Amino acid sequence: MFSVLKSREKRVLFLVFLLMILASSPPSLDAGTPARWLKVTPTHVPRGAVALMTYIGPKDVKPIKIARSDTTFPFFLNDKGIYQALVGLPLSVHGQRIPLFVYVSKANNTEKIAFNLSTKNKKFPVRTLYLKKRSKLDAKTLKRIKLERSKLLNTLKKLTPKRFWHGKFIKPVPGGVTSGFGVRRKINGTYMSVHHGVDFRAPLNTPVHAINAGTIVFMKKMVLSGLTIVIDHGMGLYSLYGHLSKARVKLKVRVEKGQVIGLSGNTGRSTGPHLHLGVTLCGISVDPLALIHLPL
Ligand SMILES: [Zn+2]
Repeated sequence: MFSVLKSREKRVLFLVFLLMILASSPPSLDAGTPARWLKVTPTHVPRGAVALMTYIGPKDVKPIKIARSDTTFPFFLNDKGIYQALVGLPLSVHGQRIPLFVYVSKANNTEKIAFNLSTKNKKFPVRTLYLKKRSKLDAKTLKRIKLERSKLLNTLKKLTPKRFWHGKFIKPVPGGVTSGFGVRRKINGTYMSVHHGVDFRAPLNTPVHAINAGTIVFMKKMVLSGLTIVIDHGMGLYSLYGHLSKARVKLKVRVEKGQVIGLSGNTGRSTGPHLHLGVTLCGISVDPLALIHLPL
């Protein structure tokens, strides 16, 4: 009887030991899906939004980048020494699951692991406007708009391999949103371009604050967005401030989060004083409010 008990005890002890080993060993990257070692915030990402990916996997693995189609989003070390990446979904994506690839390196070997991002269905409203005096743009002006746009896009697609931003992003002005990201504008019965930014209520000459730290990389009076300032926050992230009346910073200077960079206005093609805020991540226009709401 004693010997039977002893062998049962041995078996129990062996099982406990085995469970302890299994519990302490890090998850294998090959065996599991990245869902086990990549925390996605929010869990379901609407199109046009920006998601925060936090790496919670084994320490001997270094995450490098996340790729979707032709766009890559780099991982960076956050202020707590944890690897994170910001991933932007364009407005044009469709489907409940978006295929991504996560690039990781382990013992000098790079692995490419497939990962599906869960999306959230989001509908974007149509805003109908009837404007009496809408001057038509002549060929010369249209040419200038095209040139200005290509210069701006050249700036926005550069990836500065350094992170200037820290912590949460803030609103640039205290006013509420008057026109959201992704709104389709129908002017005098014709569909116009989709709104790739957020309009905030801002009376003339309201101080406009940098939504986070960065470098002023673009400042120009443009046909459509008037006096426009762009901040490079690093790692492919940029914020754009349009229709300003005045600039309070110079090109190439570093700015801190909350610093006044200019005053709101009504310059360019604008129907009244307001602030237009745009955000691009690795060349993709994303909803600035999605970035401001991220728990960074
Ligand atoms: Zn706008």
